[in-house]
Amino acid sequence: MPTPPEKTIEISVVIPCFNEKQSLKELCARLTDTLTKTGKTYELIFVNDGSTDNSLSELQRLRTSDERIKIIHFRKNFGKSQALSQGFHHSQGRIIVTIDADLQDQPEEIPNLLAHLDNGYDLVSGWKKQRSDSFGRKTASRIFNTCASWITGIKIHDFNCGLKAYRSEVTRALNLYGELYRFIPALAGWQGFRIGEIPVKHSPRSYGRSKYGSERIIRGFFDLLTIIFLTKYIQRPLHLFGGLGFLFALFGCIIDTYLAVLWFSGEHIGHRPLLLLGTLLIIIGVQFVCFGLLGELIVFSSRKDIDKIVKDTYGVE
Ligand code: UDP
Ligand code: MG
Repeated sequence: MPTPPEKTIEISVVIPCFNEKQSLKELCARLTDTLTKTGKTYELIFVNDGSTDNSLSELQRLRTSDERIKIIHFRKNFGKSQALSQGFHHSQGRIIVTIDADLQDQPEEIPNLLAHLDNGYDLVSGWKKQRSDSFGRKTASRIFNTCASWITGIKIHDFNCGLKAYRSEVTRALNLYGELYRFIPALAGWQGFRIGEIPVKHSPRSYGRSKYGSERIIRGFFDLLTIIFLTKYIQRPLHLFGGLGFLFALFGCIIDTYLAVLWFSGEHIGHRPLLLLGTLLIIIGVQFVCFGLLGELIVFSSRKDIDKIVKDTYGVE
């Protein structure tokens, strides 16, 4: 008898978890309930990011009754970007949904995200319009999101909602590391994917505590710098470093020209701090231009993303 064709998986749900044992059972039940109602085939990929609270054994226990529950187990805690990256890498679905494991995001919102994806978007992000966090976190997040939206030109309110739905082309094109998961809409938007947003319900944490503290606010500043560099200058580092280097060197030349004129008119300039400043600016300027050229060289020799920028081809082998 011929074996029936294997059913392809339509939706992969990727769930990063770091010490969220108490939420896992309820989360699984609510995800299963919601996804079953969609009538689509699915898999739940839990990425256990080095939990030390026996989350793994809880996940293994849940998997014994449902093989659609899959587990990726990290040797130690590598952070949410790595957890999402590995989850994406092992996903089989045409659509990928991400959701936090702490039950702050509601699994019941997933059908709304999927419906919005069908309106012609490649990525739909949740917007925690009524956010259930402390006043400090809400304010910091509002400032962060306003800056991120202004700098990246992606007009959404909430970059860092755990609940998102993607077409698999998007997750394949993302290269996440460090804290970059907070900028996924910006990184995807920059690659030409269409980004949508819908308000979603957000609940306070029932168990455990947030894995992030106030240090995230300070790191956010550096992350914004990274994102400016990644989205605007990664293909042309010389424009950034060369521009800065040119400005430094120009100021240095103006200062030193002024001092040279003084010297020709008989003034002693050897003791003037301005001489040091002018010379330093010229040296730094030249170094910046060299950084830019080195950057160009690296971009030139590591162009692996060429296949990711093409959406479709017609008549091309
Ligand atoms: N998380 C993770 N690795 C980490 C930190 C967090 O996988 O190093 C997971 C965590 O278990 C949760 C999600 O990422 O499912 C969001 O984390 P958290 O709720 O602490 O962030 P917050 O909601 O406070 O921004
Ligand atoms: Mg949370």
